[in-house]
Amino acid sequence: MLNVPPQAFPAPSSQQRVAAGGRAKVPLKPGRSLMDWIRLTKSGKDLTGLKGRLIEVTGDELAKHNKKEDCWICIRGFVYNVTPYMEYHPGGEDELMKAAGTDGTDLFDQVHRWVNYESMLKECLVGRMAVKPIAAPKGMLPEKKVLGASAKDLTPSCDWFQTDSSITIVIYTKQKVMNAELVTVDCQGKQLRGEIIVDDHSYVVEVDLDHAVQEDLAVNIAEKVGKVEIILKKKDNIHWKMLGQPLESHNTFIKRMDRGLFYRKCKLVSKTEVTHDTKLFCLMLPKSTHLHVRTGQHVYLKQIIAGTEVVKPYTPVLPFLPLDFKEPSHRDGAHIYLMIKIYSCGLFTQALDHLQIGDYISVSSPEGNFKKSQVQTSEDLFLLAAGTGFTPMVKLLDFALTEVSCLRTVKLIFFNKTEDDILWRNQLEQLALKEERFEVQFILSQPTKDWVGKQGKISSSLLSEVVKRSRRDSKVLICICGPTPFTEQGVQYLKDLGYSPEEIHTFTA
Ligand code: FAD
Ligand code: NAD
Repeated sequence: MLNVPPQAFPAPSSQQRVAAGGRAKVPLKPGRSLMDWIRLTKSGKDLTGLKGRLIEVTGDELAKHNKKEDCWICIRGFVYNVTPYMEYHPGGEDELMKAAGTDGTDLFDQVHRWVNYESMLKECLVGRMAVKPIAAPKGMLPEKKVLGASAKDLTPSCDWFQTDSSITIVIYTKQKVMNAELVTVDCQGKQLRGEIIVDDHSYVVEVDLDHAVQEDLAVNIAEKVGKVEIILKKKDNIHWKMLGQPLESHNTFIKRMDRGLFYRKCKLVSKTEVTHDTKLFCLMLPKSTHLHVRTGQHVYLKQIIAGTEVVKPYTPVLPFLPLDFKEPSHRDGAHIYLMIKIYSCGLFTQALDHLQIGDYISVSSPEGNFKKSQVQTSEDLFLLAAGTGFTPMVKLLDFALTEVSCLRTVKLIFFNKTEDDILWRNQLEQLALKEERFEVQFILSQPTKDWVGKQGKISSSLLSEVVKRSRRDSKVLICICGPTPFTEQGVQYLKDLGYSPEEIHTFTA
């Protein structure tokens, strides 16, 4: 499948030749990293063979270009000659060939819909399809096509009213359970965008406002009736004749997966060391943004690197592990904390590390399929984390220990290479002392001879020792996150040990 490069330099022999989303990566020849591809696209070489012309491509013409040495693929109505890209594709030539000579939109969306292929492949653009492509543009599917006529009643509705000083946009979601975490609002200049998540669907209000508003906005939720209010302050106390002009996605209700990612620029306010190679980045959301990242969700960061947009996923954490589990903590709504390992030859993390305090970076709206109810119905919670795979466990720990009283045990089994790599070791040990339901165990794959704890990599025998139901029939949830081989092996061993798929949750993109 068309798996446009989510990552770059991994050495050919590196275990990192595995796609973040769980797809196998193949060794690439030297000189075929993402950075090498970016260089080639900037070289001025004619990559399409059309000397800069753009053409209209018929279905028949597209189908002719179905060989490795002559391969065209259509994504969202645009046709790319991906022949020169073959050797650079992290998923391998065979994956790319699955879409050769056809519309690869669905295949692309299944794996990495967040990857900015428009930017990566812009020099490979052959032209547009002459006829409408089979897959519709993301974010623009007509309502009926997605929902079916009978589901139309579920579509939220929207209204607005004003006072002398304010504008209130009211959205009736027709949902009995609504909360602030399901609502994201951005006001960039006069462009207002509100997105509400209703199960696996997304409703968007998107308007070019009639007049200017002040920077700060408020969001009120009437949880039980499912009403959401977005309150804007007028800049001038004048009467508005209309709310504004509807923009492209206004009043659309489509599957979340079909909605394009929306970004806002966040300011880097601090960067602190966690270990020798990992830092905690604190990003400040604009005042005119209302956004919450729920437990188990990740965001995408976007940077322009050598003139190309590069996007990578990261999982927000808390500024520190809360030791006082009385109330949900650190949800000021204004900051996003990211714990990020800086790889010495990492394309994205090197650029991140070079950001200065006060610089801005684009952050997407959150995504992720973890459901809190999975924890709320469990008695034993096991968290298997490897390296920065610890990041989703931070909010999960906070949630489990603060809000889930039915949990009898919460155990973190944390795999790292060496002692120096253990993230927040002190905090975890303090937490274990303070909270009797919580236990932490560190397992090192490359320990020094002084290490007296457990060692090795994930294995069936190790898991049978450390993951045990507290009672014979207790309900367990096992969450796993780390390098893809770690996660995949972990799932297999757990299944072999008799845990059901419903008892296992893996964090992936
Ligand atoms: P690249 O240029 O792609 O690779 C350069 C070198 O970095 C490789 O040779 C390899 O040694 C190393 N490397 C690259 N990718 C990985 C990898 N995935 N695993 C191990 N080594 C790698 N990372 C965090 O630090 N914190 C997070 O909170 C976080 N959350 C994530 C959430 C999701 C859903 C996913 C899928 C990944 C997450 N990652 C996180 C990993 C992150 O998205 C990038 O893959 C990572 O930052 C490397 O990017 P890079 O461009 O610097 O490295
Ligand atoms: P690392 O290289 O420091 O390895 C940490 C531990 O993982 C090792 O000690 C070992 O026990 C285990 N491990 C590593 N490679 C393995 C393999 N091939 N087979 C079995 N076990 C293995 O890890 P890192 O550099 O911190 O990487 C963390 C990974 O977690 C990255 O791949 C990152 O993409 C992923 N991650 C995913 C999410 C998510 O939500 N999906 C969030 C954060 C991080």
